[in-house]
Amino acid sequence: MKDSFGREIDYLRISVTDRCNLRCIYCMPGACDAAGSQEDILGSDEIVLIAEAAAETGIRHIRLTGGEPLIREDIIDLVSRIRKISGIDSVGITTNGILLEEYSERLASAGAGNINVSLDTLDEERFARITGIDENACKAGSIYDRYNPRKILDGIDTALRNGLTVRINCVLTDINRDEWADLCDLARDREIDVRFIELMPIGAGAGLEGISNRELAARIQERFGKMELQDGKRGNGPAVYYSLPGFRGCIGFISAVCDKFCSHCNRIRLTAAGILKPCLCYASTIDLKKIINSGADREELVNTIRKAILDKPAAHCFETPEMISESEYMSRIGG
Ligand code: SAM
Ligand code: SF4
Repeated sequence: MKDSFGREIDYLRISVTDRCNLRCIYCMPGACDAAGSQEDILGSDEIVLIAEAAAETGIRHIRLTGGEPLIREDIIDLVSRIRKISGIDSVGITTNGILLEEYSERLASAGAGNINVSLDTLDEERFARITGIDENACKAGSIYDRYNPRKILDGIDTALRNGLTVRINCVLTDINRDEWADLCDLARDREIDVRFIELMPIGAGAGLEGISNRELAARIQERFGKMELQDGKRGNGPAVYYSLPGFRGCIGFISAVCDKFCSHCNRIRLTAAGILKPCLCYASTIDLKKIINSGADREELVNTIRKAILDKPAAHCFETPEMISESEYMSRIGG
């Protein structure tokens, strides 16, 4: 269905957990335990019910995120149940990739489509600093060496072998801002897109400095040659993709800050606690878990989602931080 600004809303991001096996500085920094009580979290029947109701409003694409979705015990069952909902054309996963090697085959069998893997650095020491993991644990050969960027690359290769499509998401901050060329190389050597997400001033991201995608695009072009804009649709979100000479995959930019894409935003979000969020920037009080617990029938749920879509704000307000009413960490909202 269309919202009141004529935007077709067909994409729902569901945070299936607010827990995570990492503690990224811009999302869920180590000192803070952002996770709520597990009783507050939507159960799988509730998630499927909401997904079914959302499909009735015209949602066609669902992405499961978190926190870290692959630590949820019933994740494979969830993917498979949501994929079977009439009207849902794709179920993607956004993951930090730590468990990807282990889960790829089952995700593919359950019908998962695109896997977005967050990987900000290929360097062990930087990986430890960004993700809050003990540096010794991140070292290759450590008994915990799944917390190693090279292991995440192994997980990506396993996912590709299992027929999944993979995109890498990178957020550049002071720690890794000089690593963009090495990250771009991943799209030259493999059939994957590498996307740069501008740091957003949400939750822990508010206190950090990112890098503008406009500046980054200019540097990439200088280094790798002329970028050609890809017209065809490559994903369901706001990323803009470019091909580069000799590259197998594309470079994507998600420029929420320097190039506000709200005029063609097609998404709504559901937090791990069941709050429906029409826009990332604003706190919301549409508590679908409460509505389900009150005994509401499917029609009431569908009507609530329709109303939320109609009331979706015109745009985010990252440029005027005092207007941002969302104070939750990204791990709880579902980035
Ligand atoms: N744990 C999974 C992961 O890391 O991919 C899924 C959840 S994570 C919140 C989803 C995405 O949000 C990641 O790509 C992460 O880099 C991004 N993210 C988190 N906080 C952010 C922020 N403040 N600004 C921009 N992107 C952010
Ligand atoms: Fe966890 Fe993803 Fe947030 Fe990092 S970005 S702390 S991996 S939820």
